[in-house]
Amino acid sequence: MAARPRVGVLALQGDVREHVRVLTGLGADVTLVRRPKELAAVDGLVLPGGESSVIDKLARAFGMQEPIRAAIRSGMPAYGTCAGLILLADEITGAIAGQETFGGLDVVVARNAFGGQTESFETELEVAGFDGAPVHAAFIRAPVVTRVGDRATALAALPDGRVVAVEQGPLLGTSFHPEVSGETRFHERFLAHVRGAAA
Ligand code: GLN
Repeated sequence: MAARPRVGVLALQGDVREHVRVLTGLGADVTLVRRPKELAAVDGLVLPGGESSVIDKLARAFGMQEPIRAAIRSGMPAYGTCAGLILLADEITGAIAGQETFGGLDVVVARNAFGGQTESFETELEVAGFDGAPVHAAFIRAPVVTRVGDRATALAALPDGRVVAVEQGPLLGTSFHPEVSGETRFHERFLAHVRGAAA
């Protein structure tokens, strides 16, 4: 395969630019994905943070729901942060009426799991398989994984045990936003999945 992995960032709503910056910095060839044609031209997709119900609605309006579901079913690597994790979950709680997901991750994710004062916070996390310093994680109106199914693996949890990072084959999801804190290891892991899938 080409030396530079071709990846997309779903660019319907959310913190698209931050992901583009991290992925470009890691040497990827990055496309903004809004149309099926653009999805077809990439080997992996990042689902940004933002508002999952809005991204869901726009994805359906743009005819992107089925193409993304099909791509995930056929093994396309994907990485979702925050709203993106919600969109990758097979099941969600706290959804607005009619809200759907692309699915793929065998998990249940609770939206807006941190109420009141702790709606947004930053903390250090140990992540399974990561060498070096703990991950500095920014949680912004973040979800948590309330059930990890048999096919998924928890990669990180808060001190109270709530799971905030999961992996299932080429699918990766985090409750928090590494793209805003200079943390690149999740994106590197995603790009390793992309290289592996394309090899
Ligand atoms: N609360 C948002 C949602 O449910 C997610 C927030 C985020 O992506 N930072 O979609």
